[in-house]
Amino acid sequence: MNELKPCPFCVGKIKKVISPMMNTVMFVCDKCGADVCFYGAEHDPKATKAWNRRVKE
Ligand SMILES: [Zn+2]
Repeated sequence: MNELKPCPFCVGKIKKVISPMMNTVMFVCDKCGADVCFYGAEHDPKATKAWNRRVKE
């Protein structure tokens, strides 16, 4: 469940961050600083599924 695919831009490591303002799940790249969240899938487990579906292997 916690397994996240790497950044689609730089293949860096992705970490999951819960936004303190909105309490939504964001995915942030350690390397290039990209941050992504999904409208309609802002919370786990949907958010993680949306991320992994978005990133093609
Ligand atoms: Zn990146």
